[in-house]
Amino acid sequence: MAILDQFSLAGKTAVITGGARGIGLSVAHGLFEAGANLVLADIHTENLEQARRQLTERDAHVLAVVTDVTQPDSVQNLFTQAQATFGSIQIVFNNAGICNLEAAEHVSYESWLQVMNVNLNGVFLVARQAGRLMIAQGLGGSIINTASMSAGIVNEPQKQASYNASKAAVVHLTKSLAVEWAPHNIRVNCISPGYMGTELNYLLDQALLDYWISRTPLKRMGDPKELQGAVLYFASDASTFTTGSNLIIDGAFSCI
Ligand code: NAD
Repeated sequence: MAILDQFSLAGKTAVITGGARGIGLSVAHGLFEAGANLVLADIHTENLEQARRQLTERDAHVLAVVTDVTQPDSVQNLFTQAQATFGSIQIVFNNAGICNLEAAEHVSYESWLQVMNVNLNGVFLVARQAGRLMIAQGLGGSIINTASMSAGIVNEPQKQASYNASKAAVVHLTKSLAVEWAPHNIRVNCISPGYMGTELNYLLDQALLDYWISRTPLKRMGDPKELQGAVLYFASDASTFTTGSNLIIDGAFSCI
């Protein structure tokens, strides 16, 4: 297959969690441009509808399913609807996540559990459902989890132990599933973004953003569009021997 053809997602369907805004929505646009049908899943009903309309205006084939990734029934419903609409599912971008900035000595157990539930348990529940479906389909598949550079470094000055721990677990979950599901030709990889220009960060103090930028060798935050190519690589036939990988995309932040 010619090199550019390897990146085509024509005839494939991608499920994207956290797809209503930020990184998930940006990657949805990228996967659509590569030819994929889209299933957007998010807990935020209004943003999800807005995202669906935005993509439909570009002639994307989009199904939007309100989903809470922390609830097994909700995740099961997502894949049932996706399969009923598009038949088979080849790609899952397992991306929904949250971050609570709190000092470890003050964080409530509820807050700790909330972060673990979305960032780790939610990623597991979505991967488990995707794995079941892909094994039953017998066609292989590609699951891409969103971890973070915080899986390997400790961010400062903000305190975010729960987030860091959850993302480190996502990287190792990725490797574990890659090995378990290799016999089914289901590849499991993750991306680890650094500081990106999304709503998640723009709600924070500008002085904090300026500090992060000053510590980033490329001297800026990433644009979510700069993650599209990485996810497309993992999603497509360009990466058929790539599984269990963690691609750090952080402007070299974690190198220093
Ligand atoms: P965002 O807040 O803009 O988007 C996250 C989306 O996930 C939102 O639409 C939200 O409604 C959805 N979501 C939250 N809880 C959910 C749940 N229980 N079920 C379903 N959907 C839920 O954030 P983002 O910046 O686009 O981040 C996306 C992913 O990238 C997250 O996993 C985040 O941890 C990770 N990440 C972000 C950055 C960054 O700098 N923005 C850096 C590294 C990693």
